[in-house]
Amino acid sequence: MLQFKNVTKIYENTNVTALDDITLDIQKGEFVFLVGHSGAGKSTLIKLITAEERPTSGEIIINDINVTELTAKEIPYYRRTLGMVFQDFRLLDNKTVMENVGFAMQVVGATRRQMRRRVPDVLSRVGLSQKARFLPNELSGGEQQRVAIARALANNPNLIIADEPTGNLDPDTSKEIMAYLEEINRSGTTVIVATHDKDIVNSMHKRVIAVDGGNIIRDDERGGYSDHE
Ligand code: ADP
Repeated sequence: MLQFKNVTKIYENTNVTALDDITLDIQKGEFVFLVGHSGAGKSTLIKLITAEERPTSGEIIINDINVTELTAKEIPYYRRTLGMVFQDFRLLDNKTVMENVGFAMQVVGATRRQMRRRVPDVLSRVGLSQKARFLPNELSGGEQQRVAIARALANNPNLIIADEPTGNLDPDTSKEIMAYLEEINRSGTTVIVATHDKDIVNSMHKRVIAVDGGNIIRDDERGGYSDHE
């Protein structure tokens, strides 16, 4: 469902080679950790997936769409097929939990009827049915991240990308968040998690792709976190 073919990204302003001839294949339904220290190229890889950046050379195919060839007009439509989760949650503080999730649907043109049906469904998937009318600042960090996961699910994406989703959470809450992502993955959604969290990577035995200096230095089917990374 995701293919990188000889992808290189050189940032023109600094002449930094952030990714150097990357070739990568992720199948539908996989759960993949993306690891590597700061500056390794993880964010660049994610930005190429979301079409925030364009590769300098190579080809990126996601869900049969050639992302490299998308026009500026097509990019917003393409992004609807992706769900994003961030370290800092990025919720709208003045909107309730249900409004945050509904808003993600509204911006892509969902009807009220579709929202009424879908929002409670995704909130129940992250165990937040009882908190639908709460504001983000009335929730714990873990609950806020669960809202973000529900929002990512709202438009029924086939790929969820989580960028350091547990970076602001304590170890127990981090495990809980990962369990929700694992559950979502089990129901068929492909999940990519960029993380520094060694305990999580080591405990979950998923595919681990390690990047360093813009290269893939390791790709293990059921890997762990190596101290070199
Ligand atoms: P990571 O997410 O693993 O920390 P990044 O993908 O952010 O790594 O960065 C990879 C390399 O690309 C680094 O050397 C970084 O300085 C450089 N880089 C990232 N973004 C930009 C940018 N917008 N302009 C210039 N250089 C960048």
